[in-house]
Amino acid sequence: MTVERRLVFEPADIRALTLECKKCGVRLTAKAAALDVPRSCPGAGCSQGWWGSALVLSRDQGQWPYETLAKALADINAIKDNAEVGFRLLLEFDEPPRAS
Ligand SMILES: [Zn+2]
Repeated sequence: MTVERRLVFEPADIRALTLECKKCGVRLTAKAAALDVPRSCPGAGCSQGWWGSALVLSRDQGQWPYETLAKALADINAIKDNAEVGFRLLLEFDEPPRAS
């Protein structure tokens, strides 16, 4: 018999969202409702762009998926206890391997 272990949680369990620079590894953490992705890395001495001109239009049109996700999480948390919402959204992940 194979036993698979899963982690299941609600969006409200997400304490914050973290953006990690691909170049220097600096991390920017914000609550979902307050996520504002800077145009370039906030790390000292790092010049990595986090989004370029090709993405400006979609961001300006409110179609920036990172901020759309953050807003959706905040919106879900705001209505999750509404009696008219008859379900809970659960996110499921494989349990990470245990350190030996
Ligand atoms: Zn960086």
